[in-house]
Amino acid sequence: MDAPPGKPDPTRSESRRELDAPLPVTLLTGFLGSGKTTVLNHLVRTLPRTAILMNEFGKVGLDHQLLQKMEGPMALLSGGCVCCTISGSLSPTLKNLWMARQKGDIPSFERVIIETTGVADPVPVLDNLLHDNWVRARFRLDGVVTTVDALFGDGQLDQHDEAVKQVAVADKLLLTKTDLAPADSVAMLRERLATLNPAADIVTVAHGELDPAAIQNLGLWNAKTKSLEVARWMKHQRYHPASAGKLGGKPRPQSHDARIQAFSVVLDTPLDRYGLQSAIAMLASFRSENLLRFKAIVNIEGEDRPVVLHGVQHVLYPEARLDAWPDDDRRSRFVFIVRDLEPEFVARLLQDFTGAARHHPEQAA
Ligand SMILES: [Zn+2]
Repeated sequence: MDAPPGKPDPTRSESRRELDAPLPVTLLTGFLGSGKTTVLNHLVRTLPRTAILMNEFGKVGLDHQLLQKMEGPMALLSGGCVCCTISGSLSPTLKNLWMARQKGDIPSFERVIIETTGVADPVPVLDNLLHDNWVRARFRLDGVVTTVDALFGDGQLDQHDEAVKQVAVADKLLLTKTDLAPADSVAMLRERLATLNPAADIVTVAHGELDPAAIQNLGLWNAKTKSLEVARWMKHQRYHPASAGKLGGKPRPQSHDARIQAFSVVLDTPLDRYGLQSAIAMLASFRSENLLRFKAIVNIEGEDRPVVLHGVQHVLYPEARLDAWPDDDRRSRFVFIVRDLEPEFVARLLQDFTGAARHHPEQAA
């Protein structure tokens, strides 16, 4: 979890501290031909002090030649896919970049953008970034940004699991080529994306152009405000509550994405810590294929400060502890995006393992 970077060491000079602060990493993903490199071209122009890691299948990468002249350093991960065949090269590449930066051998940079191949599963890449301690001490995952092709995105979501996963784990969705697609199909695709991933804002991108601020500070930790922003990060209200068999009172739409569900679970009373850990471990280990993503702010029995949890399949981020509750609401709130898993099953599991009382919005109404 992009918990707040450690307390700054007063004995170090400002520039030294800046040089040592963990750098934000943005994972830019999206299906084949959805416009990742076009967006990247725009970002290298508008975000100069950026290092680019570009993943290409071919031994002699082509895409990187499409990248215009850029100020920051660029590294190529070629000859395979960073989520699987060459996943082992991500950490060493980041280490080399960091070391070269520390020594001043390359132009300095203050963030990294990793562009995956179009068929990459973002989850193993997140796993890599989070579970290499050396990397995690120096690079902080700021967000997953996914490009979705307004022209072909619908079909790609139908046919390719990777496309669905790329959308489900995104913190921000960039809808590209809207100028080429009929307005009504763009509107339908937008709705579909909002159902698949309620918390991810959707930004329309024409010719790769977007406000660079739109892809920054997407995680829990906002480097600009130097605070943990749970409400902005979770957007809990956008999720339907998990209610037996129904979502928000309406029968579930028999749409393409019938297998994917996004829902929330609210537990009214404080949770038993070990019960909670067992429930999460159960889901992340035995149901990792079904658990695409979850976020939670939880009230742990006997603890006065809230804890924030975040996981993507089997990848559990280290828990973050807030200094105080962001508002008067002391209930534990979970949001989930799952595939082939009943919301009621997840809600019951949490309730049974933690012994907490469940909030039933339909009864409150
Ligand atoms: Zn792969």
